[in-house]
Formats: sequence, structure tokens, C-alpha cells
Amino acid sequence: MQLLTPFPLLQALGMECFVAIDLETTGLDATADEILEVGMAKVVKGKVCEHFNQLIQVEQQIPEHISSITGISNEDVAGQPSINEVLPRIIDFIGDAPLVGHNIGFDLSFLNEQLQRVDLRQQTNFVSSQPASSLKMRQLPNPHIDTLVLSRILLPRLSNHRLEHLAQYFGLSQKKTHRALDDALTVVNLFDYLIQCANKLDKEVLGFINRLLKPWQGRDSQSNLLPDFFGHLVDLSRSGERIPTKRMVSQQLSSPPKVDNLIGFETGSQTVASAKFDFDKIKAVFLPGGILEKARPGYEARPQQLQMVEAVCRAFSEESFLLIEAGTGTGKSWAYLIPAIYWSQSQIQTKETDDSFLPTRIIISTNTKNLQEQIFFKDIPFLRSHLKLPFRAVLLKGRNNYLCWHRWKDFILELEHRQLSSLKERLELLPVAVWLSETLTGDIEENTGFRAHQKPYVWAKLHSDSRYCKGNKCSFNSVCFVNRVRRAARNAHLVVVNHSLLFSDLVSNNSVLSEYQNLIVDEAHNLENAATQYLGVEAHLWQIRNLVNNLYYFDGRETGLLPRMRQAIYKGKLSQNTQETLLGNIEAVTSLTRSLDQASSRFFRQLSEACWEFNLRQRQPIGTKIRYRDWLENFPSTGIVTNEFLNELQELAGELRRLHENLLLVKAEEIAEVEDFLFDLEGTCQEADELLAVFKMLIEATDQRYVFWLEPSPRGENFDSRIKAAPLSVSFLLKPLLYDRLRTAIFTSATLSINGQFDYFKSRVGLDLVDPDRLLENALGSPFDFEHQVLVAVPKFLPTPKEVGFIETTVSLLCDTISHLHRGTLILFTSYELLGKVYEGLKINLESEDVLILGQGKDGARHALLRQFCEQKGTVLLGTNSFWEGIDIPGTPLEILVITRLPFEVPSEPIIQARMEAIEQRGGNSFYQFSVPAAILRFRQGFGRLIRTKSDRGVVIILDNRALRFRYGSLFLESLPVIPKVFNTPREMLNAIEKWFFR
Ligand code: SF4
Repeated sequence: MQLLTPFPLLQALGMECFVAIDLETTGLDATADEILEVGMAKVVKGKVCEHFNQLIQVEQQIPEHISSITGISNEDVAGQPSINEVLPRIIDFIGDAPLVGHNIGFDLSFLNEQLQRVDLRQQTNFVSSQPASSLKMRQLPNPHIDTLVLSRILLPRLSNHRLEHLAQYFGLSQKKTHRALDDALTVVNLFDYLIQCANKLDKEVLGFINRLLKPWQGRDSQSNLLPDFFGHLVDLSRSGERIPTKRMVSQQLSSPPKVDNLIGFETGSQTVASAKFDFDKIKAVFLPGGILEKARPGYEARPQQLQMVEAVCRAFSEESFLLIEAGTGTGKSWAYLIPAIYWSQSQIQTKETDDSFLPTRIIISTNTKNLQEQIFFKDIPFLRSHLKLPFRAVLLKGRNNYLCWHRWKDFILELEHRQLSSLKERLELLPVAVWLSETLTGDIEENTGFRAHQKPYVWAKLHSDSRYCKGNKCSFNSVCFVNRVRRAARNAHLVVVNHSLLFSDLVSNNSVLSEYQNLIVDEAHNLENAATQYLGVEAHLWQIRNLVNNLYYFDGRETGLLPRMRQAIYKGKLSQNTQETLLGNIEAVTSLTRSLDQASSRFFRQLSEACWEFNLRQRQPIGTKIRYRDWLENFPSTGIVTNEFLNELQELAGELRRLHENLLLVKAEEIAEVEDFLFDLEGTCQEADELLAVFKMLIEATDQRYVFWLEPSPRGENFDSRIKAAPLSVSFLLKPLLYDRLRTAIFTSATLSINGQFDYFKSRVGLDLVDPDRLLENALGSPFDFEHQVLVAVPKFLPTPKEVGFIETTVSLLCDTISHLHRGTLILFTSYELLGKVYEGLKINLESEDVLILGQGKDGARHALLRQFCEQKGTVLLGTNSFWEGIDIPGTPLEILVITRLPFEVPSEPIIQARMEAIEQRGGNSFYQFSVPAAILRFRQGFGRLIRTKSDRGVVIILDNRALRFRYGSLFLESLPVIPKVFNTPREMLNAIEKWFFR
């Protein structure tokens, strides 16, 4: 195999010879798991000239999911050499060549672990070309390049960076994935393409990368080669000898297409004057022969969809609040989007200032990212092109999703000054640098290379923040991502947001969305939880650390706002008096940052210990949440450190204000950057004031409208405890903040009602406080024929979950069902504890059968589990809370759904406990008025995972016998669209299910 990259380029990059490596292992932990297979390919002068491929005998049994992924069985490795025997050959093959691998740190950790365990000198057949010093170190001394890191840097907008995905993206032929040699050869190809992508990098971006990595260039050989790799590229481009890549397939090397968060804002597109809101015309879009049927072959008008269209049209024209339940398969997004588009076109207002037209905006809020993207990137473009209406739409997120140019530049300047920042820290920022040269939106979610969710504390310093936003005075104003999208959102017909933004906008007086009067809430069953979460308050140690570090940071060199100001004051043309005052202020603030840093550490350490002791006394896991009403009563040992911490924070806030006031007296002629300093200082003052207010509110805990609790770190780390508060009821907030100013509101979901009644939902989110004459309610039936599509089985012979023997009988019944039927099975749990026990039981009992069993938290991330579940027929997947909704698996991968327990909320959860108490105090019955209806809605969400299309068929098994034995149980069963069948013996049930599948 010959590489596409010309040899001179490989040579210039120091890659005349390299070895691509991949290992298959029995698990992810190098200290506990074993190497199953080693694959290597040696590349010399741009040509693969030698292969190494070896299966390895392991001591442990190969886990099922590993066999399923790799195709390597216990039989395959029986009789193969041990790792001790293979290791010398591996080292021999590698020699002193640089290594290239995908996530190579993983492979190196396994090899180095083995090197540490094996006394290589005892291996008689070992002939090493390694220097003796490396053997002493017991780790491979070869320098390396990680293609995963490289692809994250060079292709930051790719949806993911798994090897198979990258191979597909570049159109590389990949025989088998997850076999060591095939993957090593794919790595060779991938590296080849990535070199060419790097060679195409914009000069400016390349220069920036090189500047950041410079301190690590030319270091000893036991290192990451990436700094040198980029250094060589820069040298080539400087010398004008950038070597062209001859056979480069430009299409293959282009970045993924750019996405935009604006639709319909092309130059020349204008809002046209009002058109009549015509019900019949809108309905005709859905009817046979209408626009939808013509545009989407196979589209069928559904009665429930038409009913929904009518109801939405009525809500708009009567300015009402519509609560509409529409099951899966109704086509509900089109049923509200199309009337919404026509409505916004009919309500164009004329601007007083210049007679131009302004659209009536409709805000559409969803709970999940999936639905938000479906609406914005699929539904809206489709409708725009087929309805032929010139509407504009914007996908708007919270400010903290967008990068702020001003903060990015400052951050990089600081980083370059810091001596001790690590290579890892800098490499992690490179995907941002490349992405910034491409992105239209500045929305960090499109940057899969950076992974902001894994680095919240770095991202907190880069994202747009109103406290540090210079607005019109910002020199980046014209290219600012936030300004661009917000301006567009003010002129759009449809603004798609999520519940998080909807609520954070409410508490910030509509600072993001500005005034709006029409709202559509999809996935509305999550409204109460979302409001609880986003209208709540939270405090943790990192908020203080961020504040302190932004002001002053020392790692061999001083960085931060205070040293910058000090330097400018020395250089400035100030009177001696003013200079001394300001330097005195700065000294005082600097000293307070140190004492606050220490006081906050003491406070959180003491708090963690108090939580630890509390949970120990209560015999609860160390991470159990602790509700408190009186801080000192619950955590008396924290009294002194709490006062000390609050005092320090207060003093810092006060001293910052004093510094700000004194700096206000300074003129630009005296210090050129004074305006910038004042601006940053004002943001910092605001941050300190806000933090003080939040910590005080949480510690005083006097606001009766809130519930307060502590979340200790589940791992017992001091720095990871969180103090939280959430509104006891969201009604009192939503009514005045939201409902009172809306003309039209539509709340929709597949599960809003209980037996056709919306009372529970209304009472939870405050819609019962709205004028009843303005409320329209409609529970649409389902377009599915549940009688023929689903069998609901309730085994009467099982004990209830709290009785002895529930787990054993459940495991036994599940084993019989799985081995008898061999169909894709999703088992839903309400706790990890029960999931773990059933998982173990199934593994042990079904060991000899060819069934893949996957458990949440056991066999990989949620999306990987779902992918494997869909790919391999007859897989069994065990999941907890996040699997009860938002999973869409049509067809045969999912034919049996098991509900292990009725999904009651955990009554000891602080917010649930407080809400139940509040109902009891009002003389109500918290179980029937709160616990049961909430569980029924969740139960229906879980049930909804099975039938996703008209052709799906399957069985739901409800293992929780309380559904039969207790009075409330009938409420659950009655909420289903089919009458369940009750079975007295396992045999009877299995026969009936088998018969039903073959009917
Ligand atoms: S206008 Fe504000 S958010 Fe935009 S780049 Fe400037 S400081 Fe950042």
C-alpha cells in the first residue's frame, strides 16, 4: 500500500518511517483488563512494507460485548501465545520508529502496563533494539502521534471522531472494524489524509497553532510529536516549499458542510405584506393532492394530524392557550409548524419608523437537542422550499453556547504568558482555533473536537457572558456571533429555542428573546422539570476559583487582570498620589483573592466532611443529596468556615468596588487602556456581587418559595460538592413571568393527559391559573392500531418489587423469555441498583447462549449502546431513566419492552419530598395527587418506546405486580391504549407471547 502523501512531505515531517498500531482488549482498564490482539503496520518511505498481527491468549473470559464488537471468541484465543511471549516481538517490530495510533494513549497504557509487569530479561527469545535505559523505565520510549487528537484539531465540525466514522468520511476502504491489523491499516490511511488536511491549513491558523505549541518543539524523543509536526509544516510554508499533495482528492479533504443558524436571511429576501390566515388553505396542504403529498411520496394525511392542525389554527385565531396531546406517528411538528408559518405571514406589522414590515414572531421551544435539530435542520428547510413562503427562521441558544471573540483573544494572550500551562491544555484549544476559521455560528455545540461539556471550566472563560460583553463598544462587534444571531432572531418569523433558554430568558427580563406573544412548547411534559432546573440556583467551588483566577493567577509568572493593571499603572502618567492609591487597591484585592481562595477551599472541604458524616450516620451512600432548612442546624461543624468564607467574599466584592471607583477618576491620557480595565473590572464586580448574593441566599435558606439541598460529590472529592435551590412550585413564577403576556400558547406532547384529562399537567405548571375561557384542551387518539400491534402482558405470579424473591423470579422469567423468543428486548429500570442485579443475573444465566446483553453504565455510553442494540438482532438492553423517553427504534431491533417497576419518583429526592409535603400541608393526598399521576405520565412515555410506526408489532411486559394488587395500579393499566392480559404462570405467558408473535 502506497501513501498519497509525497515522500518529501513525509520526510519533512520526520515521518520517513513509522509504525501504526492498534490493540483489541478485554476492557478499558489497563490495570485490570488484558490485550486480546495486536496489529501493526510499518510504513517506510511512504509504503506499507511489513505487517504484524497476533491474537493473544488471555486469562479472563472475554466479555460478551467485546466478542460481539471484535468477533474474537474465547476459542479463537485458546492456544495462542501469552502477552509475555509476544511483548518482545512487539518491541522488536517497532524498533525506534515513531508510533501512530487512534487514541494511542489507550494502546500505550496497555503496552506500558505489560512492560511494567514483565521482566523482559527473563524472556530467552527477546532481542531488543531498545536502549537499556528504556527497559529500566519499563515503557515504550517511542515518540507518537495520535490521529484522534489530530482529527479533532483538523476536522472539529465532524459529527464524531471514531475511527470507523473517519474512514467513512474519507471514503477509505476498511475491511473489518475492531480487528487490530485492519484498524492499524486504517490508521495508516487516515494519517495519510490528515497530513494532507494539515498541509491545506490556512497560513494564519497554522501560525497560531505553531505559536501555541512552540515551547514543546524539539524536546526529547519520549514525547508527543504533534508540536514538531506542526512546526515542520510552518517551516515548510515559511520557506515557500509547501509540498503540494499530488493525488489529493479535494472533495474528500474538504471540511464538513457549514451549518448556519439562520434560514431565509439571504440578501434580497424580504418580509412581504400580510396574507390572510385561511384555515381551508392550510388544511389543503395536508389533504390528498396537497403540497405535502406531492412533496413527500408516501405521505398520508392522518385524521389526528388534521384535528391537530384545526386546533392549532383555532388557538392562533382565537388567541387561546391550547393543550394538545398527540401520540407518536401523528406528525405533530408539521401540524403546528405549518399553521404557525401561515399565522406569522398573516400578522405582519409595519414599523413606525420607516414603513418596513416586521414579522410576528413565534417562539418554538423543545426539551431535547434531537427535536430542536429535527425541526430546524429538517422540517423548516423542507417546509420553506415546498410551501414557497418567504419566512425566516433562527435557531437561538443561550449566550453561553457562543464563543466570545474578545474573551478568546484575552484567554490566548494569558495562556501564552503562562509558563506552566501543559501541552494537553494547549492541544485541547487547537480545535477551537481551526473551527473559528470556518464557523458561521460560533455555536460550540458544532465543535466536536473541543468537547466543551468535558471542559466546563475552560469553556466558562471563552463563551459570551453579559457581564463581560462590551456591546457596541466591542472591537469584534461586527463579527460577534451572539449579536448576529440575536439581531436575526428579532426579525424572524420562527425562533427555535430550548426550554433552558426559554426559562433563563424569563429570569433575565427577556434580555435574549425580547418581547414575544406567541409560544409553542413541544415535549411539554418536561416543562415542570425544566422550569425547576432552570429557575433554580446553584453554587460550587469552581465559580469562586474562576473569579479568583481571572483576577490573579500565579504559576511561576503572574497573569490576570490585577497584574495587567498594575503594570499599566507603573507605565502610566499618573500623579504619585493616584498611583499609590491604585497600587494600594490592587495590593489589597490581590491579597483578598488569596485569602478568598483559601477560605473557599476550607469551606468546601469542611462542607464535604459534614456531608460525608451526615450520610454515614444515615447509612446512605456518600453522594446522597441532603435537604436542609437551616444551614447551621444541619451542618454545625461548618459554622466558622462559612462565616469566614462569606466575609472574605464580601470584602473582595467591596474592595473591587473601591478599586473600580478610584479607576473611574483616571483619564485615557494617564492610562491608555483604562476603558478596557474599567469594563473588565465592572464585569468582575458584578460577578462577585452575584456570587455573594447566591451564596447568601443558599446559606440563609429563608426564602420559603424554594427548596434547598446539598449535592456532595459521589466520589467524595471536596471540590465537587454543589449547593442548590429550586422553586417549590413553578406555577407562581410561570403565571406572571410567562402566561400573563402571551396571546397564544400551544403545549404539546405525546403524554400530557391522564385518561384524557389535563388537570394534573395544568396544576403542575400553573395553567390552572389562566382564565379557563382561554384554555382549549384536546387529547387526540393515536394513528396506530394498538389492538393489533401490541400485546401487554402482566405476570400475576411475580412478587411485588418490595417482596422477597422479586429479583430472583424476575431474572428467571426474563431469562426464559429471552432464550425462548430471541427478540430485541429493552428492559426499563427505575434504579441502577436493580439494573445491576438483573444484569448480573442475566449474564450468569445466559452465559451459554448467544445473546448480547448490554447494560447502561456497564458496556459503554448511551449512544453506543443504542447503536449496538440496533445493529445486532436479538440484543437485550438494560437502561434506567434516560431510556424511558427520547428513544426512537422502529422495526425489529425492538420487539419486547419490559417495565420492571412502576416509575414513581424517588420520594427522598429533596424537591419531590418538599412538593409532597406541601400538598399534605394543604390537606391533599400527595400520593394520589402527585406521585401517581407523575408516574403514570412516565409509564406512558416508557410504553411509547415500543410502537414507533404503523408496521411495528411487539409485546410489553409489566413486571411490577402492584399494577394488579393495589388500587392505584389500575390507574396505570387504564392509561394504556390496550387492555392488558394477566397471566398466572410463566409457561402460560410465554406460550401466549410466542403465539402472538406468530399470529
Ligand atoms: S460583542 Fe460582546 S459577546 Fe460579542 S465579541 Fe464583543 S464582548 Fe464578546
